[in-house]
Order: sequence, then C-alpha cells, then structure tokens
Amino acid sequence: MSEYTTSTDVLVVGGGMAGLAGALALRENGANVTLVERAPEFGEVGAGLQMAPNASRVLKRWGLLEKALEVGVQPKHLVFRDATTGEELTRQSLGGEFEERYGAPYVVIHRSDLHRVLLEGCEAAGVKLVNDVMVESSETVDGRGVVHAAAGVDYEADLVIGADGLKSTLRPLVATDEPVSSAYVAYRGTVPVTPETPATDLEDVVVYLGPDCHLVQYPLRKGELLNTVAVFKSPSFERGEEQYGGVDELHAAYKDCVPAVQAALANLGTGIRWPMYDRDPIENWVAGRMVLMGDAAHPMLQYLAQGACQALEDAAVLQDVSTGTVFTADGVNPAAWDEAIVAFNTVRAARTARVQRTARVWGESWHVSGLARTLRNLLFKSRKDNDFQYNDWLYGQTGEGLPAPEAPRLASQLPV
Ligand SMILES: Cc1cc2nc3c(=O)[nH]c(=O)nc-3n(C[C@H](O)[C@H](O)[C@H](O)COP(=O)(O)OP(=O)(O)OC[C@H]3O[C@@H](n4cnc5c(N)ncnc54)[C@H](O)[C@@H]3O)c2cc1C
Repeated sequence: MSEYTTSTDVLVVGGGMAGLAGALALRENGANVTLVERAPEFGEVGAGLQMAPNASRVLKRWGLLEKALEVGVQPKHLVFRDATTGEELTRQSLGGEFEERYGAPYVVIHRSDLHRVLLEGCEAAGVKLVNDVMVESSETVDGRGVVHAAAGVDYEADLVIGADGLKSTLRPLVATDEPVSSAYVAYRGTVPVTPETPATDLEDVVVYLGPDCHLVQYPLRKGELLNTVAVFKSPSFERGEEQYGGVDELHAAYKDCVPAVQAALANLGTGIRWPMYDRDPIENWVAGRMVLMGDAAHPMLQYLAQGACQALEDAAVLQDVSTGTVFTADGVNPAAWDEAIVAFNTVRAARTARVQRTARVWGESWHVSGLARTLRNLLFKSRKDNDFQYNDWLYGQTGEGLPAPEAPRLASQLPV
C-alpha cells in the first residue's frame, strides 16, 4: 500500500458540483473519501443556476437545503414569452401545489453559492479535499482502483469516481466519443438590481423564446442580483470557423427581439463565451472499479436546466445503492462495490439518457420560426397553470432512476 500517496475507500476525481455531491453522499455513508481537483482552488465560474425540486430534495436529504435557501431565491413563476412580441406563452407557479407535489422548492442560486454549500458540506463531513492534482489515467489493479496523477503521484481506492466534467480524462475508459457542439453559444452575466431595473418579472424565471436564440433572466442572492443568460445559434460555427460566436454575432442574433430583450444584453459579461456542448448518451459508465458521474457521464444541453440537478441525483442514488451493501451495520464490504456500481449505472444511465435527449428536442422547440413558431406558441398557450404532465417525469418524487424518497443516513450507524 505504501507505494501510493493515498489509499482510501473512495477517490473522487473532480471538484465540481458532481464530485462534491458524490464525495458527500459516500462520506455520509461512512466511507473515507478523498477528492482531488486539478485547479489550485475550489470554485465555480459562471452565474446563476436553476435547481429544480428533484435536486433540492437531495440537498434536503443532506440537511443542506436551508443553507442554499439562505443565499438563493425561490422564484414565484417560470414564465415563457415570445422574444419577438413579448407575449406571455405560459406560466408555471412554483410555490404552493408545485412545491407540495414535488416535495421541495424550486430554487435559483448563484453557482458559486451552491458550490460553496456543497464544499462546506464536504469539509464538515470530513472529506479529504486536495487541490493541484491533475489526474492523467486510471486502471483497476487487483480489484482496486488506481489513479495516476501528474508528477508521478498515484492514488489507490476501492472505488474511483470520475466526476471530471464534459472533457473527462476518465471517460475514454468506457467510450471513444467526443463532445457534440450544438452550434449555440451562451453569454452570461449578473448585475445588481437597482431602482432603475425594470420591475416586470423580477421575482420569476423568465425565458424569452426567439428564432435561433433565447434569453433567460432570474433573480439571485435574495433578489439583489439579476442573472441573464443569452444563447444564440452562431452563423460562424455554420461556416466552420473555430472561434465562433463573437460579440458581434450576439447583438445581431437579437435584432428582431423586443426592447426588453435587447436591453437585457447590456447585463451580459462579454469576456467569456460559452460554446454549448453535450454528448450522445452512453450505456456503460463502469470500467473495473471506476465509475463516471455528472457531466463526465451524461453532459447535456442546458435547456431543461438539469446538468447539475442530475449530478445531485447521481450522488443520492450512489448513496442508496451502497447503503446496506457496501456499507452495512456490520462494517464496510468493498467487494460489494462491483454490483453496486453496475446497479447505479443501470438506473442512472436510462434516466439521464432521457434527460439528455429531451433537452435537445426541448431546445429545438424554443428556437423555431415561421409556422413551427406559431404552432409552438399555440401549444404553450393552451397549457394551464399547474398542468404537471410535462414536469412529473423530471421533478417527480418516485420513479426509475430516482433516489429513494427516504434518506439513508448510515454514518452514525456504522461501527467506529
Ligand atoms: C449556460 C449553462 C447553464 C446551465 N444552467 C444549469 C441550470 O440552470 N441547472 C443545472 O442543473 N445545470 C445547469 N447547467 C449544467 C451544469 O452547469 C453542469 O451540468 C454541472 O456544472 C456539471 O458539473 P460536473 O461537476 O459534472 O462538471 P464540472 O463542473 O465540469 O466539474 C469538473 C471538475 O473536474 C475537474 N477536473 C477535470 N479534469 C480533471 C483532471 N484530469 N484531474 C483533476 N480534476 C479534473 C475540473 O477542474 C472541474 O472542477 C448549465 C450549463 C451551462 C453551460
């Protein structure tokens, strides 16, 4: 064992939302968990994040929802508008019946705030967090996972979790695919809410749908900040240019939109552009004692606002499948990981593939023009508030691939 820098029960590669959630989930079950991250510091870039009840239920399970609510906002409605007329197309109330049905609130939160809540959760639970570790490869040796990092540092664990994001280093152990570009680019930004900020929709998540573009706005940090995301199809991507989606294209993309949308472009930071990628779903996430989770396993387009939410679900299911199998009242049984990660893979790959595929189709319906736009608008307008038929499969409390409704909290039951 001494040839390895660290020998641990679980080694998590990647300190984004997925890695932190996975580390916390298994630490809650009583595992010794080490998480390694290539960046010199933990953190998140970007602005806001929508956390639907399927994810806030997971935070509730870990006792972290209150902390998220302290810094987040519970928006009143999710509102869709036509970006070229401003007309309201449909509105979903997010309190009351919605929250009751799904057992947790819809929350919008600054990414860095959610990341910090998870990081502090890991610190408090006793996850060993290590920065400046660039993982290069992983293999399974004598039934244990071995991770090779830069500068010849090696780690050994019963289970290795690859939570290293869209461009995962560990995914090639299970697939030879590449990220798929959607030809869309996002710009994001947050600005303080001032008395001059137009008051309309300030308590809601508002999505303006336009031809080949959309714009999302919602409040953050108790309503002190306004978050704006603009996403448009890049003509220079279609021409095969490498640096596609520049600021000139941003403004051109919204030229036919209502003044409220055009004015909102001023809220965007233009220093970073975010080309939007996903991957085709894959069935197998397991190689020996390595399993993928989060964007490394199932990166998706952001139209359902579910990438991080699905990572939280992953973590909770990983916690469930190892409860009573790997982690039992009699102690830890590492041999049970083989079956547990296959069970995890089976239920989660089916569910996340559906989310990945639906996100693509949902995005297409947002960006149509002409007759398709007329029909889309008619369909949206025919929907009644609190019609849950489009939400239940995604936010519902029970169903295949979802975490168990009751939280297992095993750490206290395990022998010390
Ligand atoms: C515009 C936009 C809007 C979005 N909105 C939402 C939303 O509203 N709701 C939602 O749920 N999701 C949303 N998402 C998706 C969400 O941001 C992602 O799904 C989520 O952040 C993925 O987390 P992750 O931990 O899997 O990956 P990442 O955040 O990419 O984290 C991976 C981590 O691994 C580290 N790493 C990578 N390689 C290595 C290596 N070799 N060695 C060590 N460390 C490594 C990285 O440094 C990083 O910290 C949005 C995405 C975009 C682009």
